[in-house]
Amino acid sequence: RKGGRTCNAAIGDNRYHSIFGAARVCAPPCTADCPAGNDIPLYLSSIREGNLAEAARILLQTNPLAAITGRVCPHYCEQECNRGELDEALSIRAIERQVGDYILENAAKLLRPPREENQKKVAVVGSGPAGLAAAYYLRQLGYGVTVLEALEEAGGVLTYGIPPYRLSKEVVQKQVKAIESTGVRFKFKVKVGKDITLADLQREYDAVFCATGAWRQASLGIQDEALLSSGLDFLVQVNGGMRKTANKKVLVIGGGSVAVDVAISARRLGAQEVTMACLETREEMPALAEELEQAEKEGINLMPAWGPSKVLKTSGKLSGMELIRCTAVYNSEGRFAPAYDSSVREIVEADQVILAIGQRTDLAYAEPLVEVKGGLIVVNAESQATGNAKIFAGGDATVTGPLSVVGAMASGRRAAEAINQYLGGQNRLKIEKQAEHLAPGNGEYLEKRQRVKVPELPVAQLSLDKEDVPGLERGAVEAEAQRCLNCGCDGVNPSDIAPALVALDARIVTSRRTIPIDQFWAADRGLKSSVLDDDEIITEIRIPEQAEGARSAFIKFAIRKSIDFPIVNCAAAIEREGGVVKTARICLNAVYSNPYRAAEAEEVMKGKPIDEAAAEAAGEAAVYGVVALPYNKFKIQIAKTMVKRAILGCQ
Ligand code: FAD
Repeated sequence: RKGGRTCNAAIGDNRYHSIFGAARVCAPPCTADCPAGNDIPLYLSSIREGNLAEAARILLQTNPLAAITGRVCPHYCEQECNRGELDEALSIRAIERQVGDYILENAAKLLRPPREENQKKVAVVGSGPAGLAAAYYLRQLGYGVTVLEALEEAGGVLTYGIPPYRLSKEVVQKQVKAIESTGVRFKFKVKVGKDITLADLQREYDAVFCATGAWRQASLGIQDEALLSSGLDFLVQVNGGMRKTANKKVLVIGGGSVAVDVAISARRLGAQEVTMACLETREEMPALAEELEQAEKEGINLMPAWGPSKVLKTSGKLSGMELIRCTAVYNSEGRFAPAYDSSVREIVEADQVILAIGQRTDLAYAEPLVEVKGGLIVVNAESQATGNAKIFAGGDATVTGPLSVVGAMASGRRAAEAINQYLGGQNRLKIEKQAEHLAPGNGEYLEKRQRVKVPELPVAQLSLDKEDVPGLERGAVEAEAQRCLNCGCDGVNPSDIAPALVALDARIVTSRRTIPIDQFWAADRGLKSSVLDDDEIITEIRIPEQAEGARSAFIKFAIRKSIDFPIVNCAAAIEREGGVVKTARICLNAVYSNPYRAAEAEEVMKGKPIDEAAAEAAGEAAVYGVVALPYNKFKIQIAKTMVKRAILGCQ
């Protein structure tokens, strides 16, 4: 079986590839790299068929916040997209946004209360993406779910942190409403640890999920730090409606996405000079390249490889900051240990300095009941379980802290599954697998086509309130979905014996059971490479005795005859009665991931004598439904000929 993440059919030589689509044997890079494990090719196949409702249903199984991730996800899925090797990676996030918006428009139909209520109750602390996802999936499993949130509105960073020009607050509100409509209860302005204790929740509920994020400003540990402001506090004010600034010169300390959000927001609030200074070099800056490009477009001055050294004051008022050259951020063991060249210094004047150097948690409420290490709740990475059987935790507050919306959401889903298991729930969360017989090989889509252009507004038209990036038109989304190569499949099954065994209707006897041959190679292996269990071995192959007068034949087309794998091979076993065909089993191989039963050809042969005309018609029928790639069309003709000659071989 072909391994690895690269689709050679797409980017290289596909002369010998399957002509009947393929079967998936491993997760494609987009799904494998998505923290939520979204089956992207599967929902894209529904979009290709124009069925957005089905795409929405599939996506909701792993992502209940698609309208949000479709806007702000760092799109890990696009980074290793095989299409990127051919021309450009698919614009998956833009597609996801449309499916997410469709979900919100049709929320009443798509996000529904559970069919069966469970009598058990779960408390969720915090309503960021981790809390929202856990609440949604626990509710789907039938639990009574109450979300306790310290602030006035739900959403966590989605509502209070990410600026509205990247994520409209209306979208977050619709998303929360949709989850609420499934029966999730929200209690606002309840701070756990102050208004109620975690121990109270542990007593009152059957399980508790803690997802309180990280909201405390990290400290620089330098003198006069009190004169500096916190990046998250600043963004909370922007999200709360602050629309102008008296500060003309703003210095942002930090090189990540939050720093970019702060810098761009300050600029759009009217600051005349905005500078971003960070320890990392330009190449190492943690913000996404596209975010940094946008910052530069808006006139933000980037100062990479500078560390904060001294807060400068004039008459007790902040007047700027002295920076010092940073020569390395990490030590030889990869630990954060900035090194400086103190002989190189620079002064940046500023009437506001905003720190965006990471957030810290506030877990005083949890510490008596769960283990906290390095300021983070210790959890099992698979179940989100803490050492306390009743308490689970996820999102940014945990040691596995994902620091992304999709990661937080995935931890919420994992916790919902684990809580359900802990509480002995009978239902399970579903994830449908990719359809078995993929039909990816529409060669037309391999022709180089640029990815869809997401419309961009000129800088002068950008504001704080309106989303910078509009959604795509439906047609553009469908066209983009067509570019998906549907990869992660195996190429062909090149075995010689396989088609012979299929034609002869063999039985495979193993140390455990007897498997009919059609099932032995059946593609419903999921992501396993074989139907056999790891400790199961084949002990015997049984070939039923052929009926009297039955004939069988095998034929192979190879380039180097004696040793090589087949370009196409074919086996036929035909039983006749009264001079005409009673039953025929015809199997082609090296044309699909598994031996390929040419069912249409078998039908054509029934009731006919074995002659040139019937065999020719059967050959034509055998290749019904092929989808060839640019270089493997020649295999169609060979397949037809192999079928014809195998049939004539049974005369
Ligand atoms: P949060 O979203 O932080 O939510 C925690 C919630 O818990 C809050 O509502 C808080 O009020 C509540 N809470 C806290 N303590 C208590 C308590 N004691 N009692 C009750 N409630 C409590 N990620 C991306 O993928 N893409 C982005 O574009 C992106 N941009 C970001 C921009 C900013 C400014 C920030 C700060 C982060 C950004 N992130 C982004 C990261 C992402 O938002 C976080 O990883 C994610 O929100 C973490 O989710 P969470 O559910 O763990 O916590």
